[in-house]
This record gives sequence, C-alpha cells and structure tokens, in this order.
Amino acid sequence: MRLVRFRLGDREQEGILQDDQVKAVVGPFGELREEGSTYGIEEVALLAPVVPSKIIAVGLNYRDHAAELGMDLPGEPIMFLKPPSSVVGPDSIIIYPSQSKRLDYEVELAAIIGREAKNVSPEKALESVWGYTIGLDITARDLQFRDGQWTRAKSFDTFCPLGPWVESEVDPGDLSISLSVNGEVRQSSRTSRMLFTVNWLVTFISRVMTLYPQDVILTGTPAGVGELKPGDKIEAEIEGIGKLRCSVEE
Ligand code: MN
Repeated sequence: MRLVRFRLGDREQEGILQDDQVKAVVGPFGELREEGSTYGIEEVALLAPVVPSKIIAVGLNYRDHAAELGMDLPGEPIMFLKPPSSVVGPDSIIIYPSQSKRLDYEVELAAIIGREAKNVSPEKALESVWGYTIGLDITARDLQFRDGQWTRAKSFDTFCPLGPWVESEVDPGDLSISLSVNGEVRQSSRTSRMLFTVNWLVTFISRVMTLYPQDVILTGTPAGVGELKPGDKIEAEIEGIGKLRCSVEE
C-alpha cells in the first residue's frame, strides 16, 4: 500500500495511491477508512507523506560511507535530530542558504513509524513501522565542521525532502539505494550494507525517546556523498519504493 498526502485546492488530505488513482482516506495510522473521493494523480499536488513530531537521523550507518571518510565504525548508532520544519515534499526546491558555502546531498532510507513505540524489542520493532519512503539529509557541511555539532548544519528549512509516498509492502533488508545529480549517478549502494539494521535502530531509539506515528527515522547514507550547487537537479531512488526528485536554488 502506498500512502500519500496531497493538496487539492486549499485542502490537505491523506490518500492511498493505486496505479494513477489517489483514494482519499482518513486515519491511516489508526483505523484506515476510505473517505469516498478518488482523484487522478495529475489532479493533486503531492506533499511530504507524513507530518512528523520529530525526525531522528543516524550518522555513519553504512560501512562504505565510514570507509570513504576514513572513520572507525561506531559501536552504537550516532543519532541526531532534524526539525519538522525542515521537511518538504517531492518535486520541491532545496534552498541553498547564504550562510553556507558547502551543501551536500545524502540519500537515506526513511522508516515511518506507524504506532507508538517505547522500549520495543528488536523482534517486535518492525511492527511499529508503517512503511518506508525516500529521505534526503541535506547538510551544510562547512557549518557542521565549524559548529562542532550538527544542529544548524542539518536544520535549515527544506533540508529534509521526503517522499513521494510511504510504501508498506517492502522489506528494508536489501534494497538498492541511489542518488544522481543532473543525471550522473553519485551514490549507489544497498541497504544490506547498513551497520545497524532498521529494527535495531527502532529499538535503540525507542529506549531513549517515545516514537509516535508519522515520526521519521533517517537510517544513514551510503558512500558517494558530495556537493550540490544552485541549479542542480537531484533524483533519488530506492528499490521497491520509487523516485524522489528535487532541485537546488539560491
Ligand atoms: Mn545523514
């Protein structure tokens, strides 16, 4: 099942996408039911598929990315937060902040929480996940190094594109994940190269903070991280989910 959020006129609604049809629904994180209306996908504007209370991101979670940075693999997940205000939807503009001279892309598998989770076991952790979407962890790399911590670098408005939908029927264990800039492939890996698997990340995070429906876990980026310039067109793809496109503007 593919969950979308969309705008039609001045209304924002949730829907289930089947082929090119969007069925409006209510309560996708509780008792899902159809609202009655169906639209063609070209009639609506897709939004980020969730409205999270928080976005928890994980650093250095791919062996190939840690190796390209020459960094040791962490013994526990290294987590940080991105604010909900950084979220934008598919086909959005990433605004290049004037404070930064070095903006980087990072494609990541985004796990979407479906039910409240606190201290969940690794065996039950995936029951808390509704599905998966594509996320970009846009980073002002110069500010990350200058500040010595990551909040400013990771938190500008538009720094967390998500979408185009949440796919419930996908196994996160071994999916191809890639990103291209202006048609040139820059990142290409598989989720099987993650150091900490999705269920283990949910467990680890839920031992620190309660996870709520629509919360997002960005599971780290593979090798090939690099620089963006104003005018760049990004296409991120994860097997079994789809493609997320964005562009960069000053
Ligand atoms: Mn990241």
